[in-house]
Amino acid sequence: MSDTEHPAVIDAVVVGAGLAGLYQLYRLRERGARVRVLEAGDDVGGTWYWNRYPGARCDIESMAYSYSFSSELEQEWEWSERYAGQPELLRYIRHVADRFGLRRHITFGTSVTRAVYDSRTHTWTVTTDGGEEVTARFVVMATGCLSRASVPDLPGLDDYRGPVLHTGRWPHEEVDFTGRRVAVIGTGSSGIQAIPVIAGQAAEVTVFQRTPNFSFPARNRPIGRRESAERKANYAEFRAWLRATPVGIPRPLPERGALEVTAREREAAYQSAWDAGVLGGIQASFNDTLTNRQANDLAAEFVRAKIRQIVDDPETAAALCPTGFPLGTKRPCLDTDYYATFNLPHVRLVDLRRSPLVSLTERGVRTTGAEYEADAVVLATGFDAMTGALRAVDIRGRDGAALNEVWAAGPRNHLGLLTAGFPNLFTVTGPLSPSVLSNMLISIEQHVDWITDCIGHLGDHGLTEIDATVEAQDAWVRHVAELAAGTLYPEAASWYQGANIPGKPRVFMPYLGGVGAYREECDAVAAAGYRGFTLSRLPDAHPTA
Ligand code: NAP
Repeated sequence: MSDTEHPAVIDAVVVGAGLAGLYQLYRLRERGARVRVLEAGDDVGGTWYWNRYPGARCDIESMAYSYSFSSELEQEWEWSERYAGQPELLRYIRHVADRFGLRRHITFGTSVTRAVYDSRTHTWTVTTDGGEEVTARFVVMATGCLSRASVPDLPGLDDYRGPVLHTGRWPHEEVDFTGRRVAVIGTGSSGIQAIPVIAGQAAEVTVFQRTPNFSFPARNRPIGRRESAERKANYAEFRAWLRATPVGIPRPLPERGALEVTAREREAAYQSAWDAGVLGGIQASFNDTLTNRQANDLAAEFVRAKIRQIVDDPETAAALCPTGFPLGTKRPCLDTDYYATFNLPHVRLVDLRRSPLVSLTERGVRTTGAEYEADAVVLATGFDAMTGALRAVDIRGRDGAALNEVWAAGPRNHLGLLTAGFPNLFTVTGPLSPSVLSNMLISIEQHVDWITDCIGHLGDHGLTEIDATVEAQDAWVRHVAELAAGTLYPEAASWYQGANIPGKPRVFMPYLGGVGAYREECDAVAAAGYRGFTLSRLPDAHPTA
């Protein structure tokens, strides 16, 4: 069969052509499977296709946040910076698509609106926004954890006369803020990266902050040839080490608690993490930061002291100091000159906790304190994380059951991979897997490898269906919740537990056991003949994948 033909029933539909979808396509093609990838954007890249706001940059080191499946790719690609910017990441992903001949299997500009399972044929029929129907034995949702932009329901949004730009849906054409007055709403990772860069261009920047975040200097720098060559000489060992660590990020693994050392040792450890510029480095200085409130307070106070040191105006510094939630329980940020940006004469902070946002007006943003005129409004307001992109598709499993109803009180699945009653539908880095609490590349490769092996196992054994058992699913959901309950994470109203989206059930969604332990569990499940899943076959099945 030619690559461009679309047979009546193909092996797999992969939804999304970001880092997950591309690798899934590569692995299934390697097995000779007939695959189609359906992608909403007009190019590959996923997150790095959509998030092109000024300053967009990965905050995991490039040499760790990259594919490991091909040593040729690993060796030939040269990263220019310790933390790659969005344009370089997109170039890399495009290179991967071209190098491995993946584009011809991808249909761009196409969103999946519906997916319906047929228990009689063990197939899914996927419908696109263009009205096309594709029937496949498996569906892999590679739709990303942070892909559904959240635009808050701000009164007056339609009244505002200037452009409103969401960081997660940034225009593809150049946005020039030179001489403009820019309002930025939101101070999470996206806002914190964008604000210093926008301030470098705009005439005036007004930052509307509801909750201050903990942010640490990234200490980004070019990667020299020598540093790159040294890493490449031991790349396999480096990757193997990352896979066994808690989150797959190159940073030290602490053996002691913050209260087991002297104040001087503690300060030195925090300072060393601050100087290193590694995501989560401060919280990872000691092994109890996320479980012991006293230990957490010490780390948080270290960061607040840094903010007070950097920011000249005491009132602004106080407003920028995060309080009210433990350090690390909202996603920490890495920045370049974020706090120092507030020392610039044309940058001001509006503390929405003191004067809440009332509405957008024709000319700008109104709070209970004043109206701030702006020529453009930037919404750095985040995403309907982890479940948003999945719930946006009308997914119907066995007997017409709707995933949205099954997940009404929060996501349910086994291992974050398959939901009972929705056979043959896999989620890459789905909720209840390490996902956003890990280096996504580590988790993506692990999931895709597991899914590909699973599909291969079914094919090798003449099986046509895999479904999670309700018992295994219930136990997994409980396990993920218990892990979270043993930490300080539930104390923060974070997007990890859906708190940023009105009406979303509060369920802590990422698995907290670490990528190493998680991989072992997934491998053990597979080795035990897919324990916790039911495998079956149609009487007249002729599996091919
Ligand atoms: P986010 O962390 O959810 O931050 C959204 C911000 O918007 C928060 O400050 C939030 O305030 C504010 N906000 C939302 N609705 C608002 C409203 N109605 N009025 C006023 N403020 C409002 O979103 P994000 O910054 O886009 O980051 C999301 C995640 O994407 C990150 O945590 C990270 O995992 C990932 N990310 C990664 C990178 C990277 O690798 N470098 C870069 C960007 C993003 P509240 O906190 O008070 O709700």
